[in-house]
Amino acid sequence: MRAKLYNGLTRSKVAALYTLARTLYTKARKSNCTMSEISFQNAQFLISAPSLQQCPPETGREVAFAGRSNAGKSSAINKLTGNGKLARTSKTPGRTQLINFFRLDAESNKRLVDLPGYGFAKVPLKVKQTWQRHLSEYLYKRKTLAGLVILMDIRHPLQEFDTMMLNWAVEAEMAVHLLLTKSDKLKQGAAKNILLEVQKTLRQSQIDDLVSCQLFSATKGTGVEELKRLLKDWLSDAQPTASQACQQQDA
Ligand code: GDP
Repeated sequence: MRAKLYNGLTRSKVAALYTLARTLYTKARKSNCTMSEISFQNAQFLISAPSLQQCPPETGREVAFAGRSNAGKSSAINKLTGNGKLARTSKTPGRTQLINFFRLDAESNKRLVDLPGYGFAKVPLKVKQTWQRHLSEYLYKRKTLAGLVILMDIRHPLQEFDTMMLNWAVEAEMAVHLLLTKSDKLKQGAAKNILLEVQKTLRQSQIDDLVSCQLFSATKGTGVEELKRLLKDWLSDAQPTASQACQQQDA
C-alpha cells in the first residue's frame, strides 16, 4: 500500500514536495490576507508635495483622487476613511495646490493621494499651466500609481477638467474609475440613466476596458462598498501598476 502510494518516489522526494506544497499554500494565504487586510480606517496624512520630485519614495502602491472643486472629493475621502478631519488637511490654505499623500499602513506602503482640484476661473493662467505640468508628470511618471479615481458631480459629468484628466490617464494606460458623486441629489431612475449614458460614452470612445464608473453618495453611503472593493483590488500587490505592465511589455 505504502509502495503504491509513493509510486516510485523516494521518501525524501515526497517530503520535498510536501514542503513545496506548504510554502505555496502559505504564500497564497498571505496574499489573500494582504488584500483583505487593506483598511482605510487608519489613514493618516503623510506629506504634501509641490511636484513629482518631492513625492514620497516610489515603493508600494497608491491610488489618486482628482476632481473639480466642489465635486465632493473631501466628502468621499472622509466617508471612505471614516475620518472627517483627513481631507480637510488637503484644504488647508497652502496645500490646495499640492499633491497630498495619506498613508494607509505604518510602512507607508499603501497610499491615497489627493490631487489638487480647482475652479478654473479663480486660478491665474501661469499657476494653472504649472499645476497641469505637475499633474501630468505625476500621472505619466509615477511608478507606484495603481489607478485614478475621478470624481464628478452627477449633475455635471465629463466637464473640461474631467476629460483632461481622463485623456491623460488613458494615454498613460492607467486604470480609471469615475465616481458620479452626490447621486442622492437625483431620483434613482435619473441617476441610473446618467450612469448608463456615461458608460455608453466610454464604450463609444473604446476606453471602457480601462475606465469604469459608479454612482456615489457620501451623504447616503451609496456605492461606498463598491469603491472600497475596487481600491483594495488596485492596491493589492497581485496587480501590476500601469508602469509595471509597460515595463513587462517592453522586456
Ligand atoms: P471638494 O471641493 O471636491 O472637496 O467637495 P466637498 O467634499 O467639500 O463637497 C462640496 C459640497 O458638496 C459640500 O457642501 C458638501 O456637503 C456637498 N456634498 C459632498 N458630497 C455630497 C453628497 O454625497 N451628497 C450631497 N447632497 N452633498 C454632498
